[in-house]
Amino acid sequence: MFDYLIVGAGFAGSVLAERLAAGAGKRVVVVDRRPHIAGNAYDHYDDAGVLVHKYGPHIFHTNSREVFEYLSRFTAWRPYEHRVLASVDGQLLPIPINLDTVNRLYGLGLTALELEQFFAARAEKVEPVRTSEDVIVSRVGRELYAKFFRNYTRKQWGLDPAELDASVTARVPVRCNRDDRYFDDTYQAMPKHGYTRLFERMLAHPNIKVMLNTDYRDIAGEIGYREMIYTGPVDEFFDHRHGKLPYRSLRFHHETYDQAVYQPAPVVNYPNQHLYTRVTEFKYLTGQEHAKTSVVYEYPCDDGDPYYPVPRPENAELYRRYKALADATPGVHFTGRLATYRYYNMDQVVAQALTLYARLCQRSGADAPRTDDHGRDPRVLSAAS
Ligand code: FAD
Ligand code: UDP
Repeated sequence: MFDYLIVGAGFAGSVLAERLAAGAGKRVVVVDRRPHIAGNAYDHYDDAGVLVHKYGPHIFHTNSREVFEYLSRFTAWRPYEHRVLASVDGQLLPIPINLDTVNRLYGLGLTALELEQFFAARAEKVEPVRTSEDVIVSRVGRELYAKFFRNYTRKQWGLDPAELDASVTARVPVRCNRDDRYFDDTYQAMPKHGYTRLFERMLAHPNIKVMLNTDYRDIAGEIGYREMIYTGPVDEFFDHRHGKLPYRSLRFHHETYDQAVYQPAPVVNYPNQHLYTRVTEFKYLTGQEHAKTSVVYEYPCDDGDPYYPVPRPENAELYRRYKALADATPGVHFTGRLATYRYYNMDQVVAQALTLYARLCQRSGADAPRTDDHGRDPRVLSAAS
């Protein structure tokens, strides 16, 4: 008899498995219908021996010390600050838009202060800022919006930015200085030996059984368990009773080139050309040295694995109906990007899973989390080697 059946071996499922097993002494079984652990963060060595991310580039960044320290129990880190160039008007320019982006695009020599005035002269007053179009147009004006955001967003989501919540393009800041990093979080790093290794260490506990190539529906009736933690798509759990929740998908086209370097940056975005949105060259991310190089092209599409919840009011409304069903389903806990229909990064999923774990422990009183389950004080940064 297992205490928990955990559906999905991504960050949500694996963090809960690790905490419940190592922190609360529970017996858990983790099932995933894919042939591997790590969910969308899965990485592996391709035929040429280059470490690649099967489901597109995954860069770790967080402002949460708790999340960073928790994951540090399972991996050492490679310091890494992500940088992206966008192909616009025949040039490769820094994105997020910054001082160099504008100066190079228009052949200007503005200072930071002058750039603030440049934006102010072009920004359109939008009250309230509701959509992904509003966010950018109200900050930098319509021309830069059209060059960097409109078409990329249409491609990525199959929707106009005016049809998407502000939160989507608000993920990308606009800067007046020369900071060309994609993220500005406190912690920015890549797991030194890759994500899959991190997950292997997280799941290597005698109380955790992992079953791959297994849909939970095929085994739920056959194995004994007390409660379920579900991290798959929430509408699928309820047989799409209220209709399908839209998830945007991607087709990944992986290529290896017989040259050491392919492009001048880890990621190049293509807002206005090609059917793909971006090209990622993995060696920049991983620091691997290799005579060949591997890249992935991302082609957005509607059908396929569900990768992105689509943030817009009507989908939030439909999700609320599924959430009501989830709340009324005793013995099943819904968590993760797909099960709570949130456009979450990895660190947010880890934080959400840790919060659920704390709630489960609180509920059962006697099983309050033990801080010594790794023989360490969790407040102390502990980088595994
Ligand atoms: P998942 O990783 O999707 O895991 C859910 C698992 O459940 C899957 O493995 C699935 O097979 C399994 N499952 C579903 N249904 C069933 C079933 N019926 N039976 C058995 N198993 C089932 N985040 C960042 O922080 N930085 C990034 O740079 C970044 N880049 C990204 C790039 C792309 C292209 C994508 C798509 C996402 C990116 N993310 C990034 C987000 C990140 O992937 C997610 O936040 C995180 O992986 C979500 O973890 P999860 O456990 O909720 O879901
Ligand atoms: N975006 C854009 N142009 C860019 C980069 C991002 O229009 O060059 C928009 C697009 O809508 C994208 C969103 O901003 O989906 C969030 O970008 P992010 O890089 O965070 O997307 P993710 O890595 O989650 O795919």
